[in-house]
Amino acid sequence: MIVDLHNHTKLCNHAEGEISEYIEKAIECNIKYFGFSEHAPMNFDEKYRIGFHQMKEYEQSIIDAKEKYKNSIEILLGYEVDYLKGYMDERVLNADVDYLIGSVHFIEEWGFDNPEFIGNYKDQDIDLIWQKYFDAIEEMAKSKLFDIVGHLDLIKIFKYMPSKNINKIAKNALLAIKEADMSVEINVAGFRKPIGEAYPSLSLLKEIKKLSIPITFASDAHKPEQVGLYSDEATQMAKSAGYNECVLYRKRKRKFIKF
Ligand SMILES: [Zn+2]
Ligand SMILES: [Zn+2]
Repeated sequence: MIVDLHNHTKLCNHAEGEISEYIEKAIECNIKYFGFSEHAPMNFDEKYRIGFHQMKEYEQSIIDAKEKYKNSIEILLGYEVDYLKGYMDERVLNADVDYLIGSVHFIEEWGFDNPEFIGNYKDQDIDLIWQKYFDAIEEMAKSKLFDIVGHLDLIKIFKYMPSKNINKIAKNALLAIKEADMSVEINVAGFRKPIGEAYPSLSLLKEIKKLSIPITFASDAHKPEQVGLYSDEATQMAKSAGYNECVLYRKRKRKFIKF
């Protein structure tokens, strides 16, 4: 992938490695536009994100890296923001960054992608939680607060699959994403999880293409060695869905890049 906008730093307490190590791996992988999107602060689940008091430190360290590496790669600055009602904060939503990724990691405050709480799946109607998840994605798009949809079908992470047709469950969410003029990332983190495939699935990606929704790429690296992994699979998948360009953002303005 030539663009990779979703990567973390050790500031979020569940990633490792130095910013420079992530960037050097990206250069090695021929990534031309590399973005950091740290888990934005919020007053919930504080253990897995930076604090509000670290925003300046985070932003400045990425800006410094942008300058340092400007002759080899373009570094971009973003946040991955949880769409969670009652917890989103103006300091994040109005941050002076290149883009905001909107992600749903909670269904009614249940951190469904966290292995710590995997036991909860046993008590759930799987069709219902899939629908609740995509309802949250739809609401997130309708909020028009974000540029990119993070890992669109993350709810498949542990392979608890619904009996209903997934494209149908996701339909209204996709229409809202189109209406909000957002982009969807092809996020390869799913290859590292029980589901063993990218977010979104190829089947959903084809629906996304039918709606002419732009795409971008995401390593979602939490370690330097995860940068650029499964890059060929991601590019191949985008091509087979009919894409030949992806997007990046500078100061919340979208730009298309051929790949
Ligand atoms: Zn993370
Ligand atoms: Zn995420």
